Amino acid sequence: MALLDGEVYEAYRHDLLNKYRQLLRTLSGKVSKDKIKLVREAFDYAARAHEGTVRKSGEPYIFHPLAVAQIAAAELGLGATSVICALLHDVVEDTEVTLDDIERKFGDKVAHIIGGLTKISVVFETVDNDASLQAENFKKMLLTLGEDLRVILIKLCDRLHNMRTLGSVPEKTKLKIASETMFIYAPLAHRLGLNAIKIEMEDLALKYTDEDAYRSISDKINESKLLRQRYIREFIEPLNQELERSGLTINEIKGRPKSIYSIHRKMTTQGIPFEEVYDAFAIRVILDTEIHQEKSDCWRVYSIITDRYRPHQGRLRDWLSRPKNNGYSALHTTVLGPKGRWVEVQIRSKRMDDIAERGLAAHWRYKAQLGVKNTTPQDDAFENWLNTVKETLENNDLTAMDLVNEFKYSLLGEEIYVFTPKGDVKSMPIGSVALDFGFSIHTEVGLTTIGAKVNGKLVPIGHELKNGDIVEILTTQKYRANYQWLDVVRTGRARSKVREFLRDEKTKLAGRGKTIIERMFQKHDVSFTDKNINLLYKHYKYRNTSEFFHAVAESKVRMTREVLMGILKPTEGSIEVPVKKERKKGASQIIFGEDYEMPYSLAQCCNPLPGEPIFGFVTVSDGVRIHRTTCPNASKLMSQYGYRIIPATWQDGYNNSFEAHISVRGIDDVGIVSRITDIISKDLQVNMKSINIRANGDGTFGGDIEIMINNSENLKELVSRIKSTHKYIEVERIESLNLN
Ligand code: MN
Repeated sequence: MALLDGEVYEAYRHDLLNKYRQLLRTLSGKVSKDKIKLVREAFDYAARAHEGTVRKSGEPYIFHPLAVAQIAAAELGLGATSVICALLHDVVEDTEVTLDDIERKFGDKVAHIIGGLTKISVVFETVDNDASLQAENFKKMLLTLGEDLRVILIKLCDRLHNMRTLGSVPEKTKLKIASETMFIYAPLAHRLGLNAIKIEMEDLALKYTDEDAYRSISDKINESKLLRQRYIREFIEPLNQELERSGLTINEIKGRPKSIYSIHRKMTTQGIPFEEVYDAFAIRVILDTEIHQEKSDCWRVYSIITDRYRPHQGRLRDWLSRPKNNGYSALHTTVLGPKGRWVEVQIRSKRMDDIAERGLAAHWRYKAQLGVKNTTPQDDAFENWLNTVKETLENNDLTAMDLVNEFKYSLLGEEIYVFTPKGDVKSMPIGSVALDFGFSIHTEVGLTTIGAKVNGKLVPIGHELKNGDIVEILTTQKYRANYQWLDVVRTGRARSKVREFLRDEKTKLAGRGKTIIERMFQKHDVSFTDKNINLLYKHYKYRNTSEFFHAVAESKVRMTREVLMGILKPTEGSIEVPVKKERKKGASQIIFGEDYEMPYSLAQCCNPLPGEPIFGFVTVSDGVRIHRTTCPNASKLMSQYGYRIIPATWQDGYNNSFEAHISVRGIDDVGIVSRITDIISKDLQVNMKSINIRANGDGTFGGDIEIMINNSENLKELVSRIKSTHKYIEVERIESLNLN
């Protein structure tokens, strides 16, 4: 190692050599001789490249990549390729060495991973307080999740070492790095099942942000250690005999180490003293057992413990049959221990314990032992999660900010388990709503969701799901997605699918708007030129043609021919604008018998509309009253007073509007009232006298609408348009309540 003879390394040679040998020892036996040779070469290469640079602490820079490599090998159990990459991780970024150099020397796999790591850190350095730039960085990092997981794993080792040595950097940088760590690295470590790393990151972040709190809690933990150990002995003592007799091999029984950070968080969020948080005892029983027996052995331990201590109803958590998404697997229960204290007991095999502490790296090692074909429930859970991650990442619609938030709140958060009516289980991020579940089944299901049944009860699409819910999604034939849904859904998958749909829809709508304008121009002999269209959209104060077309398609633009001609006329030369003929007012609209007119009034009981079959009823004092032939009173009138009935028909060319009542009932849905009113007043431009729709509190809504309408055709159209907004909506024309 001639290199270390260099002057810079002189003072540190001994320490550095020790650490380097430690790394080789960690790898020996697990990694082939050839690979060890490559690790040596990578170390030499990095040491030479970083020669002359020092860290903030004053020690040669090579200490950092070496430490990162040690974390990767010893704490995550990663293999030679990762260790090589860890050693080289800062070389391209900080020295003259290029990625091509790395590729020539160490191959494309290593170069690819280093490339990923460099991409992340290059931007990180330029970031100061700009939140969007920050997000852009996180996004870059998350994108590598979709490629090679080792990039993220090494990045986490890198970050952990930076946190461990944060003491010597300036205060401002310290806080920035600590908060970044809390924001995304610790949750990411948790999600990848790297529990030990997550806990250490959180504790260190607390140490740098609130040192007093950190010290006070860690001192108290040390003080109460003995008491705690004594209690655990007391707990386990009465079980020993039975455990021995059972032939089970206990690897270790220990108090669950609570992190300083988690104690601090509980103290502050719940406002309780240290003692109360810390006294919530937890004991972990770790078994040595064969993989095919681990499940039944865990249950045997459970049985022995609960024979002695009464279990808490409803506190049994079976993560054996269904591991968490991050691969966590164990049996949890809470029992009434000595001195009348509730104690949480976690029962797991050594393998499960390794996975719980070291995450998927440990998990993959076991998997390799089992043979690749043999997939465990942990694999499925983790791979499902990774697929969701990839899907979110592939969605180009999300801004960096969105993506990071998405990650933080739905992909890195806790999860719940819900069931389909057939009993299939699905895991969803905590806080998911019914609509999210729809999208998790299939995009088509999501887009046509109108409500759901949760545990047999009707609920709206925004209903938040709880662990164990049985969820049945109710759909319609039509697509229901709209802009309001973006506020309803909580998962990234659902949100990106809704966005995608709305974008397509917008393009389609704009096309429709264009056609409408085109026809309108044709009808009025206006040429469909850019110039004319520009005049038009500017007149209506839209920013561009596509926004204008879009608004036209949504009937948001009221365009009369007068306006149209008024704007376009000067450019079109001499176009005759025909003046609308005034309709004659007060003309009779109903013809009686063969062809005669007489004064009449419309019956209040059925509010007949032009176009509907009607008859006249001669009243004693009030002339003729017009009823619909379908009026509930009609059969009575006709059978009892047949002689007073006169035939009547509507005259063509009526121009008055008439009152009608419709009732609607359905499953409660976000924005239903505004959709209905949009149809009435915007789409069909019908005059609405009153609307009264209310939610009934059981997931349904109901109410009635009073409108002024021209004829029965319009009413029919209105009813069918409202019906089409919702599969589970009932719309009908109702008679007014005051019969005459
Ligand atoms: Mn680094």
